[in-house]
Amino acid sequence: MLKDLFMGLSQNQLLNSAAKKYGLKLGAQNVVAGTNIEETIKSIKELNSHGISCTVDNLGEFVYEKEEATEAKEQILKVIDAIHENDVDAHISLKPTQLGLDIDYTFCLNNLEEIVDRASKYNIHVNIDMEDNSHLQPSFDLLDELSRNYDNVGTVIQAYFYRAEEDIQKYKNFRLRIVKGAYKEPKEFAYQEKKEIDENFIKLIEWHLLNGKFTSIATHDHNIINHVKKFVKANNIPNDKFEFQMLYGFRREMQLQLASEGYNFCTYVPFGSDWYGYFMRRLAERPQNLNLVVKQVFNK
Ligand code: FAD
Repeated sequence: MLKDLFMGLSQNQLLNSAAKKYGLKLGAQNVVAGTNIEETIKSIKELNSHGISCTVDNLGEFVYEKEEATEAKEQILKVIDAIHENDVDAHISLKPTQLGLDIDYTFCLNNLEEIVDRASKYNIHVNIDMEDNSHLQPSFDLLDELSRNYDNVGTVIQAYFYRAEEDIQKYKNFRLRIVKGAYKEPKEFAYQEKKEIDENFIKLIEWHLLNGKFTSIATHDHNIINHVKKFVKANNIPNDKFEFQMLYGFRREMQLQLASEGYNFCTYVPFGSDWYGYFMRRLAERPQNLNLVVKQVFNK
């Protein structure tokens, strides 16, 4: 019930626009690194000091105007320059819909090309985040086009999709982030039960660890993490073939612990004023995150 409520709220464009105007509220500041690049670089430096690398996401969705998509592109280019100038250990995560996928495919491709090209000059990786099923194939198409000229680009495999196994085999030579999947998908396309999703998640992770280029295992689920630790040990998979990823502000102790155990660890660092959809999806995934909101309201 709560999951559906927050998932519905995450897609409410009116609330999304209102949230942009009023800054980080409702506890969002606990899971969003800052509203500008300066604050974000500071957060990255702090995480780097613990041996944690970062992937930076300039928050944004519901983009239907070219002007807004161009602004987002400019901001991401500035982030890339800032990563280079500050010599921090970080790469980029971006969402195709923020860069115009819902406006025009070629316009979006051109925006992405500019970003990937700038990042390639500094040897910075760019991850194409995956959104809902309606954007899945076009996002893979973007990856296909970009990878003809660049090798600093990768994407995400969402384990809830039935087609995930086929996709992971096709893209095994890319740096891939494997996740459970964050959107509400119909059963026509995706597993609905946690057990089925978890089983497919483990299957995909194991397959890519054995056959793929580099695997980012993105989860806060300690059962999955413990399983992966045992699996890599049993199969002699070296630490430089994979990393764990978690979102900024979640399970910080565990993030530090995994890094101190010698595993590569990467924190997903979202920043910017367009935090609303991202924050609502986090509440949908784990209603206990409501604590963040409640504490915020009562600490006033
Ligand atoms: P869940 O299934 O949410 O939780 C499993 C169990 O772990 C819980 O029952 C609980 O016991 C424990 N747990 C989880 N969180 C906590 C916590 N905060 N504190 C204590 N215990 C906890 N999705 C996409 O669709 N596209 C993307 O591009 C994408 N990128 C992502 C990048 C990163 C780095 C991460 C971490 C996630 C990303 N996701 C993405 C979201 C992902 O698909 C899941 O929706 C999200 O991670 C929740 O699933 P989970 O694997 O973390 O565990």
